Amino acid sequence: MLQRPLFIGSEIYRSSSYGGAHPLRVPRVSTVMDLSRALGWLPDAQYVTSPRAKPKALWAFHTPEYVSALARAERRGDVSAAERSQFHLGTHSNPVFGEMFRRPATGAGGVMLAGELLAHGGIVHVPGGGTHHGMPDRANGFCYLNDPVLAIKSLQHHGAGRVVYVDIDAHHPDGVEVGFRGDPLVRMISVHEEKRWPFTGALEEAAGGSAFNLPVPRGFNDSEMRMVLHELILPLIEYFAPEAIVLQCGSDAIEEDPLSRLSLSNNAHVEVVHALMGLAPRLLVLGGGGYNPWSVGRCWTRVWGVLNGFDAPEFMDARPERVLRGLSFEGNSRGRNPPEHWFRTLADQPNEGPVRNEIRTRIKVLRARS
Ligand SMILES: [Zn+2]
Repeated sequence: MLQRPLFIGSEIYRSSSYGGAHPLRVPRVSTVMDLSRALGWLPDAQYVTSPRAKPKALWAFHTPEYVSALARAERRGDVSAAERSQFHLGTHSNPVFGEMFRRPATGAGGVMLAGELLAHGGIVHVPGGGTHHGMPDRANGFCYLNDPVLAIKSLQHHGAGRVVYVDIDAHHPDGVEVGFRGDPLVRMISVHEEKRWPFTGALEEAAGGSAFNLPVPRGFNDSEMRMVLHELILPLIEYFAPEAIVLQCGSDAIEEDPLSRLSLSNNAHVEVVHALMGLAPRLLVLGGGGYNPWSVGRCWTRVWGVLNGFDAPEFMDARPERVLRGLSFEGNSRGRNPPEHWFRTLADQPNEGPVRNEIRTRIKVLRARS
């Protein structure tokens, strides 16, 4: 049993980018590491350097042909037209870049190690893992591999039979749904924006009973997330009694994210994380989407704080503030005049609001299925 939560990170995220015009050009994991250290929240004893997964280990979900193609694309720095169409590598979403195998293999290696470290219980945070769109035989939606699927398989290999996967990223985790379709040991609960890419995850889509999909409308607020948490997520977890919970904590459902139209504050993420703690012997918190460098860095640092029992400071000292002032958001209007609170606070202003009827109705539909 782990005595304290562990943070699995890597320096590979600091210098690697998907390319200047890609949403994943912004630093994310390195911000969380720097900010957490500047706050005194990440002593060396709680930090683990992520190993890079060996190609063979990735075969737990991915086809050997695809894994070879991905490694080859990095070596060559290029893909053929045939590889592009078969494996979806070298596209706008899934570009060829310098660390296109090593970086995802580091995320995958981190989450698989987490499954091992959690064999006897505890809490692990892997903000660099969370690529929930990756398919067995192709890249998909910025995701070359599928960290959540590999994480759940590793947890199961190390003794956790029943696993609940909760996903609060703005996008539907189509790759995870494919990974556990019809599996009686895994329950996936996803809250995602309706009518948004990848356009899967309809309310009625049950994936053979393993998936509970809650599409939510634009403007989804903190009050609505609180109702989803208490009326759907927590009762389903209680009913299923999992031996492990995996939370994909993508931060692209936050108001200022450029890729979604949802309106959560990071207080919603904190409430979900806090509520899931202690509900199962093992808790693995992953990252995911999040494309505004300030929102994602502040959100995931707060998440790490919550896992350790630290409250966000009202105003930060000079050192953490310097980390946030050092970020830039080239090519996006949100980067032109960032508001002061992105530099000086970790906690967003709450965004409470009315709970809309369609959300109440959809929760009832899903509850009736359990
Ligand atoms: Zn997303």
